[in-house]
Amino acid sequence: MVASWLVEAATSYNRASLEKRDGYSAFVMLPVHHLETILNWAFEALPDEILIGFDPLQSMPINAEIIEACRGVDHREDLFAGQEFVIGEPHLVNRGDSFSVHHVPEEWVDELFANDRGSRGARFTHWMHTHPNCVAIPSAADADAAQHTAGVDMILGIEFSPEGPLPWFEDAEGVRRPLNPEPKEKRGWGSWRSRQRRPVLGRASTGHSIHGLELIAFHRTGVGINVLLVDDAGHPYGLPIT
Ligand SMILES: [Zn+2]
Repeated sequence: MVASWLVEAATSYNRASLEKRDGYSAFVMLPVHHLETILNWAFEALPDEILIGFDPLQSMPINAEIIEACRGVDHREDLFAGQEFVIGEPHLVNRGDSFSVHHVPEEWVDELFANDRGSRGARFTHWMHTHPNCVAIPSAADADAAQHTAGVDMILGIEFSPEGPLPWFEDAEGVRRPLNPEPKEKRGWGSWRSRQRRPVLGRASTGHSIHGLELIAFHRTGVGINVLLVDDAGHPYGLPIT
């Protein structure tokens, strides 16, 4: 069972995804259940970032009615591989710093793929990596690594405490997509910089307090890809159709 705060956060995130849909050329659907698994891995790997690979879930095509509800005015049907399916289960591929996380150890990279498929060996269709205590904005190394991605690249920013050596960093340029429940009280929420008043969304398996999450997806050409978080049946939380 997915933690209730995460379901609330997903519902609120999806509401924003729907409001902003005209700003994106395509979307992906990621099961929240997988996000919860990834969060556990992310905390166990601290202070490292982790790299996760996914393939499309061939048994779960996104139905036409959901596509119709989630597509924007400039929607493209064929932008990336696996676009017509819900994202399948996560595979933990690597851990390391913001540069080395993208360089998958030799034993992982099938010799057949090593030459022309980039640093990750392009083993999976979609990729995600974490930004512990950093906003979900792609770095130059992230953009480079994405050049060989057939599907989409995702970044999960996690704000937590105790922070370890690297406090929350948010001075980066780019579009940010918070993955948080609706604020119960507007005042005090907008001040993430204020350490004392940070909300606690949930507790990690390692005992860390989670103060905020951010999730983005992008295509190798640099365009943003909208994300909708779905339940195990592939239905987006909070979508007003059933
Ligand atoms: Zn990164």
